[in-house]
Amino acid sequence: MEHEIPISLLQNGLNKLLLHISISWSTKKSLRLARHSVHMCSESNIVHNVLVLGTTALFCCTVLSAQTVDTTLLRQHIRFLASDELKGRGASTPEEQRAAEYIAEQFRLLRLAPKGQNGTYLQRFPLVKRNDSVLDSTRTAINVLGFLDNKAQQTIILGAHYDHLGLGYDGGSLDPAPQGKIHNGADDNASGVAGMLELARHYATNTVQEPYNMLFIGFSAEELGLLGSKYFCEHPTIPLESVHCMINLDMIGRLNEKKELLVGGTGTSPVFEPLIESLAQSVGVGNLVVAKDSSGVGPSDHTSFYLKKIPILFFFTGVHSDYHKPSDDEEKINIQGEATVLQLVATLIDSIQRLPKLPFQQTRTRQQATHSYRVSLGIVPSYSYTGKGLRIDAVTQGRPAAKAGMQEGDIIINIDGKEITDIQAYMQVLSKLQPSQTIRVRVLRDTEPIDLIVMLQ
Ligand SMILES: [Zn+2]
Repeated sequence: MEHEIPISLLQNGLNKLLLHISISWSTKKSLRLARHSVHMCSESNIVHNVLVLGTTALFCCTVLSAQTVDTTLLRQHIRFLASDELKGRGASTPEEQRAAEYIAEQFRLLRLAPKGQNGTYLQRFPLVKRNDSVLDSTRTAINVLGFLDNKAQQTIILGAHYDHLGLGYDGGSLDPAPQGKIHNGADDNASGVAGMLELARHYATNTVQEPYNMLFIGFSAEELGLLGSKYFCEHPTIPLESVHCMINLDMIGRLNEKKELLVGGTGTSPVFEPLIESLAQSVGVGNLVVAKDSSGVGPSDHTSFYLKKIPILFFFTGVHSDYHKPSDDEEKINIQGEATVLQLVATLIDSIQRLPKLPFQQTRTRQQATHSYRVSLGIVPSYSYTGKGLRIDAVTQGRPAAKAGMQEGDIIINIDGKEITDIQAYMQVLSKLQPSQTIRVRVLRDTEPIDLIVMLQ
C-alpha cells in the first residue's frame, strides 16, 4: 500500500517450497493424467510428501489439496518475505533482489512461462525521480512475471507488490525515527504476494484448463509511487488490449474480528457490483463484511491499470496500528482470515472466467485526489469501516491528533461543527483547514462522544 496517495533463496534450499508431483509433467494437459492418482492419494489422506532438499532441510508440502489455499504454504511465503533477513525488501536493494528470485523460483516450480525480459521472469526498470524524493534514476528495481498459458486470447492479471519500506531511508514510514529499522512488511505486502503465489499454484495445478490465460506479477517500487506497475503498463510484455481485468492484492493479512474486507474498483466494469454482491452473500466465503469502493484510482498498483482503461479490482483488509511501521510482523497475520479472502478472490476469478471480455467503465475519482492539503492530523483512516463517521485505524506519535489525545478506534463524527459522515466528508473538511488553526474534533470512543481540541501544524 502506498502511503501518500490516500492521504496522505531461497537460501539455497531453505524456504524452497517445492511443489512435488510424483509423476513428471511439463504441461497442464499432461498433468491431467497425473492428477487422478494424486487425487486418489489425497482421499486416502496421503497428501503430504516429505522432501529432502540438498543436505539442509526437510519440507512438508501439501500436494493438490482440495482447498484452494494451503495456509501452511501461505504462512511460509509470508515468513520468508517478512523475515529480518530480507531487511524490509526496499526497492533496489540486494534483499529486494532475493525476494524477486524467491518469487521467480515459485513460478519456475509451477511451470509458469517467463514473461519478463529476455526470456526470464524478471523485468528490470529504473526508479524514476519524483520531485519530492531523493530517488536516483540510476537505481533499478525488478518486477517478476509468470504466465499461465491456457492458449486463450485474453488474460487475467493477478498482481501484488513485494517491495516494502526497507530500512526506512526512502520515506513512507510512520515510525517517528524510522532510519535503520527493518520494516518487515508482513501485511504490506508479503500477505498479498503469498496470496498471489497460492492462487498461482491453485490455477497452475488444478484439473481445469481455464478459458483465460493468467499473468501473475510481483511488482516492485510500489511504495515509492506505484513505479513497477507504471513501468509494466508502459512496457507491457503481453498486449494490454488482451487483458480481461487486473486484480490487485495489497494488504490482505489482517482480516479483523468483524471480517471487514474492502473491495476497490467495483465501478470499473458494470458487472463487478452485482457479482461481488452475490458472491459476498454466498455461503462458503466465510461471511465476510464487504465494503465496496467504486473508484479505479486508489493507493496501490491497480491504479496504473485503471489509467490504461482496464477493469480492476483491489482487495484490502484495512489499515492497522502497525501499518508502515517496523512492527508489521508475520506473527500478527490472520492466516485463516487471509485464506477466506483468497477463497473469495478465487471464486470471483472463476465467475469472471465465465464471462466474455469485460467492458471498462470510467469511475469517479476519489475526492481526496483532487484536493490539496495544507494540514494533516497524523491519523490513518479506516478504508474498510462502513459505519457513520471516520474510524481511526492508527495515530502517528508526535502529530496533532496524538497530541490532542486521539486514539486508535476513535470515530470522528464532527470537525468544527461540520458533520463527518464518511471519509469523503473528512477529506473535504480537511482540505479547507489551515496550519496553526485550532479545531474542535468530536469523536466517539466506545459510543461515548468526546470533544478534543486539536492544534494543527
Ligand atoms: Zn505500503
